[in-house]
Amino acid sequence: MPDLAQNLLFLQNALAACAAGGQSVGLLAVSKTQAAERVAECAALGQRAFGENYVQEAVAKISALSALGLEWHLIGPLQSNKCKTVAEHFDWVQTVDREKIVPLLAQYRPASLPPLNVLIQVNIDEEPGKSGCAPEAAGRLADLIDSFPRLRLRGLMAIPDPAHSTDGAAFERMHALYRSLLQRHPQMDTLSMGMSDDYPVAIAHGATLVRVGSALFGPRPPRSEDP
Ligand SMILES: *Cc1c(COP(=O)(O)O)cnc(C)c1O
Repeated sequence: MPDLAQNLLFLQNALAACAAGGQSVGLLAVSKTQAAERVAECAALGQRAFGENYVQEAVAKISALSALGLEWHLIGPLQSNKCKTVAEHFDWVQTVDREKIVPLLAQYRPASLPPLNVLIQVNIDEEPGKSGCAPEAAGRLADLIDSFPRLRLRGLMAIPDPAHSTDGAAFERMHALYRSLLQRHPQMDTLSMGMSDDYPVAIAHGATLVRVGSALFGPRPPRSEDP
């Protein structure tokens, strides 16, 4: 069993060093395919925000751990037929990448909950077949999200092509896009980018939230099918 406590401490120290330099960077613990017990263990060590990719698997964990008051982010692709479930259970959706799902998320967000926090996923390397909107489509999506009071636009998210993400160029393009959208949407405060293999590079290029799975929990267990 990898040492979760030691890994978390290492990451916390790395992020605290950024904060000391004036850049505040949050940690999203990516818990996809990890058992609810592992999430609870991580929460007991002080981690509050968790990222999940598969809706069904996530809802089971969110329900099992509801007493812990954790913050849940959807970081996997969002199908329109899952918008209701997602709007009812998650605190954040990081993967809004097309107009069609925006009114659905707003419509299904329960009035008893605060507005749903939303990030626009950008396909920054314009890879064919990959999730995320084209960089030039982000502005229109941002305006649309802003028009729904049940949604709260918080910023942008990206998964650059891992084959060359460590050269920093894609992260830098994301940072530039984020800064340009901030002029029209000054309430934005989140640039989600960087994973286990490239988070230091992402931070060097302006990330405010890194999504770390295997460098925290160790190698991921295989996934049992999401029905
Ligand atoms: C799985 C995943 C991560 C975490 O990946 P690691 O390499 O294990 O840190 C981050 N972001 C997204 C969108 C993911 O799907």
